[in-house]
Formats: sequence, C-alpha cells, structure tokens
Amino acid sequence: MNNDRATTIAPDLPVLLRRPDLLRACHGSAQQNGPFLPVMNPATGRQLCTVPMVDADEARAMIAAAHRVWPAWKGVSAQKRADFLHRYADLILANVEDLALIMTAEQGKPLPEARGEVEHGARYVRWYAEEARRIYGTVLPTEQAGRRFMTVLEPVGVCAAITPWNFPCSTVLRKVAPALAAGCTVLVKPASHTPLSALALAVLAQEAGLPAGVLQIMPGRASEIGPVLTGDPLVRGLSFTGSTAVGKELMRQSATTVKRLSLELGGHAPFIVFADADLDAAVQGVLVCKFRNSGQTCVCANRLLVQEEVLPEFCNRLVRAVQGLRVGDGFSAGSDLGPLIDSAAVEKVEEHIADALACGAELACGGTRNPGQGYFFAPTLLTGATSAMRVAQEETFGPVLPVLSFKDEAEAVSLANDTPYGLAAYFYSRDINRIQRVAEALAFGMVGINTGRMSSEAAPFGGVKESGFGREGSRHGIREFLEVKTLCLGGLR
Ligand code: NAP
Repeated sequence: MNNDRATTIAPDLPVLLRRPDLLRACHGSAQQNGPFLPVMNPATGRQLCTVPMVDADEARAMIAAAHRVWPAWKGVSAQKRADFLHRYADLILANVEDLALIMTAEQGKPLPEARGEVEHGARYVRWYAEEARRIYGTVLPTEQAGRRFMTVLEPVGVCAAITPWNFPCSTVLRKVAPALAAGCTVLVKPASHTPLSALALAVLAQEAGLPAGVLQIMPGRASEIGPVLTGDPLVRGLSFTGSTAVGKELMRQSATTVKRLSLELGGHAPFIVFADADLDAAVQGVLVCKFRNSGQTCVCANRLLVQEEVLPEFCNRLVRAVQGLRVGDGFSAGSDLGPLIDSAAVEKVEEHIADALACGAELACGGTRNPGQGYFFAPTLLTGATSAMRVAQEETFGPVLPVLSFKDEAEAVSLANDTPYGLAAYFYSRDINRIQRVAEALAFGMVGINTGRMSSEAAPFGGVKESGFGREGSRHGIREFLEVKTLCLGGLR
C-alpha cells in the first residue's frame, strides 16, 4: 500500500458507503509517480475519482509477483481454497450495498440491478468454492500389458483476465472464482470506465485471507497493459470478455506465446415471437432482455422478429409497455434505465436510429437523448426494420430495438442465423414440436425459450462463431483454468 498513489475520490460517494475504505484501494509496487485514471459518473458526466494507473513496467512486475506466488497457491489444499472462496462470498454478500453503490456510481445502472449483479457474482464464488474440491483425474483402461494410464488436472498457471464495463463486478468474479479454485494466480485488467468495483473486490479478497500477489488488479491503458499480458510467456492463460474486435486482436497477440484463451465476445441476439406464443409473456421477456442495463448487455435482444399475423397486436402491446419504462439516475428510486456509459455510446445509438429511419423504418417510441447532464437515452422501438439496416446487422449496445417481420419458421431461423455472431438467441412459442426444431436450428451458444433471461452460475455461458469460445459458469467454467496431464506408469508386472 502506497498512500501517495491511493485512489482520490469525489466527496459525495464515500459518505454513502458504510466502508469507504473499499474505495481507498491501492495497488502495484514498482511505479510511484505514474499517471491517474479519471473515473466518471455517467449519470452526471462529472469526474467521480481518479485511480492510479499501472504502466508497462509495473505490469511486468505484477506478472513476476503472480508467478512467484503461484507454486504456493497451487500447493494450497483444495479444501483450503474452497474455504477461502466461501469466506470471500460471505464478505461480498456482507458488503452488497457498498459494492452496488460503487457500481451505480461508476457504471450508472439502477441500484437494484447493481445489487442483483453483486449477488449474482457471489453465487459464482460459492459455486467454484464447491467445484474446487471436485477437480478429479481419471484412470484409463488400456490393452497394453504392464502399463497404466492416468490423467490429472493441473492449474494453467498465471492467468490474465480482461473485463468490460457493462458488468464491472460479475464479469470479474466469473473469471477470478474458477481461476482461484483451480489453483491459478490472476491478474485482472478492468475496463477503464469501471475500475472501482474490481479494486473493491480485491480489498475483500485480501480480507478473506487470500495471500498477497494471488489476485492483483491492473487499472490502466489497454494499449500499454494488453501487449504486456499477451506477450509475457509467464502468463499462461487469458480470459477476455469484451468486443469481438478486441478479442481478435488479443488472439493475434497471444499467438506469439500460444496462450490458453477463453473469449466471451460480442453478440447480436435475435428475439423471435411466433404467432402461437403467449404474447403478454413475450412482451415481458423483451423488456427484461432488451432494456436491462439500458441495452448494454452482450446477450440482449438486438433484433425482434415477429410473425406477420401477430405483428400489429404484438407491437401495440410492446409500445405500451416500453412507454411505461422510466429513465433516470440509478440512485433514484423507480429508475428502470440508467444512463449509457459515455457520449460515444449515445452517438452510436443515434447513428443506428438515423440510418434505420433513412432506410424506411418508423419510430414507434423513444428516439431521443434526454436533455441535460448525463448520457440518458429513451427506450426506442423501430418498426418496419429490414436486415439491410445497420441496427439489424451490428451490435447497438443501447436501448434500441428494431422490429422485423417474418412469414414462417424457416424464414425466422434463416434471419436469426444470418449474422457472424453466435452468443444468445431467444424465442417464444407454445408448440413443443416447434420448440424442439427451432432450438436445434439456432446457431448460438445459448438459447432462451419462453424467457428473456438465462444467466446462472449453474449453466454454461458462452458463444460460438465470432462471439468467441470457452464457457463461464457450471462445471465447464473451471476447465478454462485447468490443463490435462497424462501419466503413463510402465514396467508393471
Ligand atoms: P472492449 O472495448 O472490447 O473492452 C473490454 C476490455 O478490453 C476493457 O478492459 C478494455 O480496456 C480492454 N481492451 C480494449 N482494447 C484492448 C487491447 N487492444 N488490448 C487489451 N485490452 C483491451 O469492450 P467494452 O466496450 O468494454 O464492452 C462491450 C463489449 O463487450 C460488447 O461487444 C459486449 O457484447 C461484450 N461483452 C461480452 C460478454 C460475453 O460474455 N460474451 C459480456 C459482456 C460484454 P479499456 O477499458 O481500458 O479500453
């Protein structure tokens, strides 16, 4: 801890916290005079605080420290690693309110959503506390006389985690918990918009008894830290959540040292409503799927596909529901949608809407940014959209939903799969045969059927195609941090 380099904070946030020390997180060891990262409140556009940045030299020193302590952490018994993770989950849950306040301040999402995210993240920690004790090897049957084959699972080693700003707490915990359970040491480079949540989580990990160096946080410039993480041979694994463009760049960079990669990348989810669906349930599904976190989720519906015969009725019901959503500061009771993360995000939303309107779409509701401070945008529906429009081709990452129509099941599946992305898809139907057919035909890593939300620590989360590879959550998530070692015992009589 170096007091010269401690986080400096605007006075309003700490007074809200029971534990202001969660924000006084400090990090790093080598550099003492480096620059500071400004953290903004997207609801006001004003600076919230500054955080000392890790530079390339400091990043290298942190990797070396993670490598030094790895043998000791790997040698800690599975039971003790599990005990640590249980204590860690307890501490996260005991500090839900503070962690949620920090998240809302730096990311903007409504406070109840932020609380939900912290609790969701804690469930991953609990899950991997349990998985830590179930890292089983195998004994293999063989025809070869005098030999026995076995496998053991070993930790990958020093791992890097690069995380996005849209879920500043859960994206960190979904990587850190399985990595620690597996016996890896971890370096987290959090998004520059939202470093505070990751730093606060590291304070709690230390409090739960994690030895120094096993988990380190690296706020700083991606252009400086990224190449150090990908180029250093001591880093054996990289788990990344973020955009497809950056994921491809990290793949290229990681080729030089042939790292284990897990990539959770962008999405472009179709949300299909068949004529036989429960339309009111589908409306509720769209609300939770599309407008949670103001449409800034990788799994949110980006294209609504509605069967022709129910299109007018469904749109009427949906417009009424969307008009009931309230946009406001995440700290205000009753806000359904907080601000977007920054002005660039608002501009992208405006560009997608302008392009759609120029190409013949109509505005059914929304369409405008809120006047005044902050990056607020009204929830927006565009009817009469077509596949040629940008909004139907690119990830918008905002509260805008284009509505397209389709004639039959074959056309719905073809439209849905017509994208390089393959993260999440959703559909509503009450026909069990159609449910089976469409679920199998959709080329996505996750399919929500009659639900707009499907994330759980018990279920694998991840994509196919340009949405990446690797899985988080469930028993599969820990495999990203484990190598299979084969043992052949010969000379047996
Ligand atoms: P992003 O721009 O790709 O950034 C994600 C992280 O990568 C940030 O920590 C960022 O650091 C870092 N980064 C950026 N350029 C880098 C580089 N050249 N080398 C190393 N690191 C680099 O994505 P975002 O805007 O934060 O997040 C939105 C994207 O994430 C969307 O595409 C969304 O779909 C995707 N996402 C996917 C999942 C999933 O599970 N599949 C979940 C959530 C989000 P800085 O902040 O310092 O630039």
